Amino acid sequence: MNAIINYFSEVLNGGISLLKGMGITGKHFVRSPKEIITQQYPENKDTLVFGERFRAQLFMEHNDENQIRCDACQTCETVCPNGSIEVVWHREADPETGKKKKVLDKYVYHLSMCTFCNLCVLACPTEAIKMNQEFETAVYDRSELTKVLNKPGSKFSQDFVDKSLEK
Ligand code: SF4
Ligand code: SF4
Repeated sequence: MNAIINYFSEVLNGGISLLKGMGITGKHFVRSPKEIITQQYPENKDTLVFGERFRAQLFMEHNDENQIRCDACQTCETVCPNGSIEVVWHREADPETGKKKKVLDKYVYHLSMCTFCNLCVLACPTEAIKMNQEFETAVYDRSELTKVLNKPGSKFSQDFVDKSLEK
């Protein structure tokens, strides 16, 4: 007998829960369009609005002279919790001081492993890397999710760093 009572009680609770859910859906359905936050993607692709803190993928800023602010210090590589960054570098003598210093060869970013935690961006002492909002990253070949973020021929510039940190 108890089993039958439990059965009907569960059916009743399920019905009540369904009606509550439908009530919330209905309320949002008839609300003023101003309050609707669902975006009609991809129809609105050109006018898509993102939240300020939305992070899609890492990029490296270059100025008009193809200069970068990355001096290959590897801090970002160290803080990344899941090895999404590989900083490939070599040592070169500074023409002014003669001292050897690191020079960036390739800044490799594995988007497929990135959890968008932003730790690398926060840790970078020269603000060389940032997160953009380019979220359309679907590809057919997984290897395309491994990207080199520094452009060919780009070079570190202390002036670019100073100007950026002044802001
Ligand atoms: S956002 Fe986080 S997971 Fe992605 S590369 Fe930076 S530190 Fe690594
Ligand atoms: S991006 Fe920033 S933290 Fe990473 S290696 Fe370059 S300068 Fe260092």
